[in-house]
Amino acid sequence: MMHSANQQREYQNPRDLIYKVAQWTWGLPQSLCGLAVSLYYRNCRQYEFHGAHVTVWPHKSSLSLGMYLFLTDDAFHYYHDQKSEFTEKAFARGLLVHEYGHTIQSLMYGPLYLIAVGLPSILWANLPALQKRRKEKRISYYSVYPEKQANKLGERFTGEKSIGAPIS
Ligand SMILES: [Zn+2]
Repeated sequence: MMHSANQQREYQNPRDLIYKVAQWTWGLPQSLCGLAVSLYYRNCRQYEFHGAHVTVWPHKSSLSLGMYLFLTDDAFHYYHDQKSEFTEKAFARGLLVHEYGHTIQSLMYGPLYLIAVGLPSILWANLPALQKRRKEKRISYYSVYPEKQANKLGERFTGEKSIGAPIS
């Protein structure tokens, strides 16, 4: 039997396997959505990160659905100020760790993820009144639930630094 290096690596870490099984059972609704989106973007660059399936997509925002994580190809788009402190690669890595934290929230909240995490995230990001408030009071998008929790979880489960609380 021939095995690619990729396949072997996938099953080497038992924690990644448990992560995937949990995402496909307890986190099923969002994993199904994530699979559909990842198939749509199948021509984009994809790789694995601690059991999560990462797609680098051509959008300004990033998104996590179950074990599927969609990372912007333009990490500095909303955060030009960060260019003085980080390389684009390092900043995108922090964003990846943050998004990985959302995939852990998928395991915590299970079938409630889309309502308990997805909905408040989308509203916090897109409602004009909240955008205005963030801008006026210089509040970071990453400073409140569920974003702040995603930072903490991402750091705990990857051992790497997350994005922190940059102000856009
Ligand atoms: Zn987030």
